[in-house]
Amino acid sequence: MIRNLVGSEWRSPEGPSSLPIFNPATGEEIEKVPLSNASDVDAAVRAAVEAFRPWSRTAVMDRVRLMFRFKALLEDHFEDLAAIVTRHHGKTLDEARGEVRRGIEVVDFACGAPTLLQGRTLRDVSGGVDQDLYRYPVGVCAGIPPFNFPVMIPLWMFPLAVVAGNTFVLKPSERTPLGAQLLAEIFVEAGFPPGVLNLVHGAGDTVQALLDHPGVSAISFVGSARVARQVYTTAAANGKRVQALGGAKNHIVVMPDADPEVAVPAILNSAFGNAGERCLAGSVAVAVGGAAGKLLDPLREAASRMVVGPGDEPGVQVGPLIRADHRDRVASYVEAGVNEGAELVVDGRAEMSRRGFFLGPTILDRVTARMSVGREEIFGPVLSVARAETLDAAIAQANESSLGNMATIFTQSGRAGREFRDRVEAGMTGINVPVAQPFAFFPFSGWKGSFYGDLHVHGTDGIDFFTRKKVVVTRW
Ligand code: NAD
Repeated sequence: MIRNLVGSEWRSPEGPSSLPIFNPATGEEIEKVPLSNASDVDAAVRAAVEAFRPWSRTAVMDRVRLMFRFKALLEDHFEDLAAIVTRHHGKTLDEARGEVRRGIEVVDFACGAPTLLQGRTLRDVSGGVDQDLYRYPVGVCAGIPPFNFPVMIPLWMFPLAVVAGNTFVLKPSERTPLGAQLLAEIFVEAGFPPGVLNLVHGAGDTVQALLDHPGVSAISFVGSARVARQVYTTAAANGKRVQALGGAKNHIVVMPDADPEVAVPAILNSAFGNAGERCLAGSVAVAVGGAAGKLLDPLREAASRMVVGPGDEPGVQVGPLIRADHRDRVASYVEAGVNEGAELVVDGRAEMSRRGFFLGPTILDRVTARMSVGREEIFGPVLSVARAETLDAAIAQANESSLGNMATIFTQSGRAGREFRDRVEAGMTGINVPVAQPFAFFPFSGWKGSFYGDLHVHGTDGIDFFTRKKVVVTRW
């Protein structure tokens, strides 16, 4: 049964409403998630406020010892976490394992707190005067993840916050709350004091209650572009520190000199991995000059051969989408693309007739930036192929997007790679890699409408976000 964690107590929210959780591979309802109201949120924030004073004064080495224990338990539960992701999100088990690994890497990084939380010192800044910079925790922080990485994205948020001495309220996605639920159970098992991590389940109203609560000092949000902007403006207007990561429309530029044996599998991985439901998915492949001629046939052949099915079946490469309505929305983009003049090269819609929320890999060719498929985030297994005469035109097409999460180029030319790196307006840029995901010790640095705020998640940005600096000037 899914419950909130308030201090040391697992309790059902007062809010009477709930939503179903599905196994997307079968379409069956497997659980219900309760929707917490403002008074449920208040209870969780109060528990976090109460825990803050003792926790923020707990020695760094004691906090880190608990973080090491949490890390060890995450490794013990590695397969359970991956299985739960597949069960209620749908992605393949291998993809789920990859997600859990990337999440645990943030815990590895958090275990470096004795170094990361250090300040700075300048002795004798003027005659007999010293200046020291110390880092202090911010207070109660709240985390609001999206549905598509139910374990990894919560782990982007609370380990760094709590190791820095903050207490935390996590509001998991109402569509995939089971990963966060298991993470919270493991966190309690690791021996962290009650109230350091609290869990409130719910949807938009629950988020609103967190944004309005005066006891919450900082908000870490990841989700769609529209909601990211709304959360950013509301939280900032309420005087909170906020980082809000939004949606994406990522371009893959393929130069004529790119080796198709490298580029084709990479494009398939980028576009159809996680069934296209990731913010680093390659959505538009821009073929430069003669590249289209070398790419399209192998792309068509390989995409048509991809195995679609339940994520826990061996050999499956593309799992289901999260919900029937989302699948239908993605399918409607295929129709819109054709109506706007794109050529349908691979049509995955035949998979919609099976049980569950499936849509097979789909490829549209001759897409332009003016078509909805070339402009809007689709968040499903639909790859658009566009054409450009030159690298300049390809970069200009990528830069037309209002979003700037990721862009990647395939080329054998160092000059083209360097030009692309310096001129493309995306905060995560790849050269000959399908998905330019930063490791935990670098920031997840989306640009433009893909990010609101100034300190990104994880890396030293994450430490800066979850600490406030105090400068002490001393003369004896
Ligand atoms: P979403 O915006 O619908 O939901 C995200 C979170 O916001 C959820 O916890 C949800 O409960 C809450 N929420 C939803 N509507 C709200 C509202 N009106 N007011 C307040 N809170 C609200 O996003 P999603 O569909 O769960 O996730 C997919 C989106 O997330 C995609 O757009 C994807 O690109 C984006 N995403 C971005 C990143 C990134 O790093 N930039 C990473 C993963 C996903």
